[in-house]
Amino acid sequence: MRAARNDGEIKMFDKILIANRGEIALRVLRAAKELGIATVAVHSTADANAMHVRLADESVCIGPPSARESYLNIPALIAACEITGADAVHPGYGFLSENARFAEILEQHDITFIGPKAEHIRSMGDKIEAKRTAKRLGIPCVPGSEGGISDDAEALKIVREIGFPVIIKAASGGGGKGMKVVRNEEELSVLLATARSEAKANFGDDAVYIEKYLEKPRHIEIQVLGDGRGNAIHLGERDCSLQRRHQKVWEEGPSPALNAGERDRIGEICAKAMSELGYLGAGTIEFLYEDGEFYFIEMNTRIQVEHPVTEMITGIDLVNEQIRIAAGAPLSLRQADIVIEGHAIECRVNAEHPATFRPSPGRIQSFHTPGGLGVRVDSAAYQGYMIPPNYDSLVGKLIVHGRNRDECLMRLRRSLDEFVVDGVDTTLPLFRTLVRNPDILNGDYNIHWLEKFLAAGGMDEPQA
Ligand code: ADP
Repeated sequence: MRAARNDGEIKMFDKILIANRGEIALRVLRAAKELGIATVAVHSTADANAMHVRLADESVCIGPPSARESYLNIPALIAACEITGADAVHPGYGFLSENARFAEILEQHDITFIGPKAEHIRSMGDKIEAKRTAKRLGIPCVPGSEGGISDDAEALKIVREIGFPVIIKAASGGGGKGMKVVRNEEELSVLLATARSEAKANFGDDAVYIEKYLEKPRHIEIQVLGDGRGNAIHLGERDCSLQRRHQKVWEEGPSPALNAGERDRIGEICAKAMSELGYLGAGTIEFLYEDGEFYFIEMNTRIQVEHPVTEMITGIDLVNEQIRIAAGAPLSLRQADIVIEGHAIECRVNAEHPATFRPSPGRIQSFHTPGGLGVRVDSAAYQGYMIPPNYDSLVGKLIVHGRNRDECLMRLRRSLDEFVVDGVDTTLPLFRTLVRNPDILNGDYNIHWLEKFLAAGGMDEPQA
């Protein structure tokens, strides 16, 4: 049965199927349990012993290790819902979380997709369309092409307008893949062709667009929640400027670069836009920020890896809100209820070499997580766990909260020193180095800082 509103009360879901794995599957499971909702885990054959399978009320094997045949296998997921009688699906992040078709198919089967309306997933999934929508809603954007670039002549016209450097991006892009920075007219034609063929190969769509390349921006994103009926709020920002290959490594909130006025201004713009859109669920509006200006780059219509940063500084359970909203509940929070307290930092601990970032799948021999006041570890790993080579290399997220940034950094230092993961390489030594670096301590970094630090040999002799 679909969740229906009933005399002002909502009919909460009976059973949620979690179409994901790893730490995010556990995260959703925890929220469902706290709401008294039964859970179904799905897993590939490679994940038969995974923690999310052990902790769920029921589990269904949906296919072989390859994600295409398991976690991305829509018919197998629908069958799993029907076998178990799940009335809602939480997609987590990655996999099918931003697949509008999946949301529609669930709808056709009378199963609620815990996420935004399919039309909003679709319009934000195409980055050209997303920019158009953002502009229409009054969100400031990076200067660039209005739509896709059809040929060299059009590209040339645009770059002459906005000036070099520019960045060529895939309309269907994601995961930081396939972006090309162009610094002069000579490179333009070749890089345009390369970007197009890479976009086709990676995303099955060769549409590309051009925007101004910002030289030293920060990546700042705004967390939003909407109930699909025009009520929408923002929950402040996260600064995700510490990136490697456009992938976030360290996220924190509030941003060391923003003042309260700037935060309120961009937050209000986002909340108003989401209200006008009738946005439903949790979402993140991503910006580059340079010299006091915000430039929209994309919107993620799902829960994000770094959502705990916001949870730690607001005390709000975002996954709980997602579930309640999907069940038809109105927003229980008003903007005035959102109070940002203290500071939080998240480190993504990956099973990768801390200097070369070579993936290091294998068995975890010993595993000890830090604890104490203000320390949270979201992880599905355990001692003896075999990290399969088939999926991303996230071992866990360490999220630390303090009353202010200094306390947070101090707590992060001691937490990182407590964290033990033996048997595979991890990025823990990278974080131990970062948390002692003067630029990081001063909050003085932009999206290129980490790459420059690594290129200069910052991790050549990692701390143990
Ligand atoms: P994806 O969806 O692939 O993650 P995004 O559009 O979110 O792509 O961009 C990812 C990262 O790429 C940003 O966080 C930033 O580091 C960099 N980037 C994107 N657009 C620009 C730009 N116009 N100028 C400079 N850097 C950019």
